[in-house]
Amino acid sequence: MTHRVWHHSLTKKELAGSDATSFAKYHVLTLGWPGCGYALVIEPKNLINTSNDKRARIVYANDINQRTYHVGNSNQFSLGICVAGDYRYDKMDDATLASIAELHAALVKDGIGKYDKAHNEMPGYSWKACCQYNYRDAFNWKGSKTPAKPKPAPDVYTIQEGDTLWSIAHKEGTGGVQVEDLIKANPGIDPTKLKIGQKINFGNAKEVIVQPNDNKEETEPSNSGDEVIKSIQKALNSKAGLIVDGFNGPKTKLALIKALQTELNKQFNKKLVVDGKWGAKTKAAIVTVQKGAKGNLTWILQAALYLEGYSPGLLDSIFGKGTETALEKFQKKRCIIADKKAGKATYTKLFAA
Ligand SMILES: [Zn+2]
Repeated sequence: MTHRVWHHSLTKKELAGSDATSFAKYHVLTLGWPGCGYALVIEPKNLINTSNDKRARIVYANDINQRTYHVGNSNQFSLGICVAGDYRYDKMDDATLASIAELHAALVKDGIGKYDKAHNEMPGYSWKACCQYNYRDAFNWKGSKTPAKPKPAPDVYTIQEGDTLWSIAHKEGTGGVQVEDLIKANPGIDPTKLKIGQKINFGNAKEVIVQPNDNKEETEPSNSGDEVIKSIQKALNSKAGLIVDGFNGPKTKLALIKALQTELNKQFNKKLVVDGKWGAKTKAAIVTVQKGAKGNLTWILQAALYLEGYSPGLLDSIFGKGTETALEKFQKKRCIIADKKAGKATYTKLFAA
């Protein structure tokens, strides 16, 4: 096991269901998994009094040596750690930060794992809104310690083992550069194929921060496409190599069908050929998605609805009210039974050419 993978639960931290027991029930009873997907769960709503002050409870949901479902093809070498909460909206409290820092220190001390990654830094998950908190900052959390002045960013950075653009952007002394700035400052770089020893340009990335509008019109056409479609294209891009232009075209649709096929294979062992084509086999493999669902299949449905002009609101991988309303409108318009469930008929209307 080499990777410690950090998740959040996408359930608001104070809710009744924001604990290890509820996640285990959901994974086993709803998803049919063999056990809880995470090895360790931190529960901000369950505070423990310790001699060092309050701490969020840490639950050992699985034996450390047990491999669990949480990052698809990377499960075999990854330990799943989930901090309960939806950190798109929730704020981390001190007790939770202290628990993260102490758990991390203990795992490092015991030699459990080598690299820390967010869920969306793992292969195939760049589009996942997980973990949404800065886990590296949490590791360094020292209670009352005054943060040290950041070192100035270097002009050139040499890739080290385990680096991703995201981890580089979050390293100490990188002056708060964003992943997007690094991509802009290093034209032609493939974020999924960084090599140890490869040099990347920091100088331009820093300038982008100081003057965000500098030369912008040279790199982006003024009539740029839809921002949400751009985010969909970016999310699909770890595999697809799409041009991020914000326009819905056949390549974007093909990449989305590929993502669907990949996910059906991964989650339900469907053994589909991942070719991006909508055919009888893919149709037969469809697993119905409905309100309450969350995860990759829901995100794919949300993206497909958006591309067809039916916005589900935030593309957050959670099948809530917005997704249901968008789906119902789409079904009525396309003359399918408006049952608010995305099954074979709905996917056919979404994906058949
Ligand atoms: Zn996750």
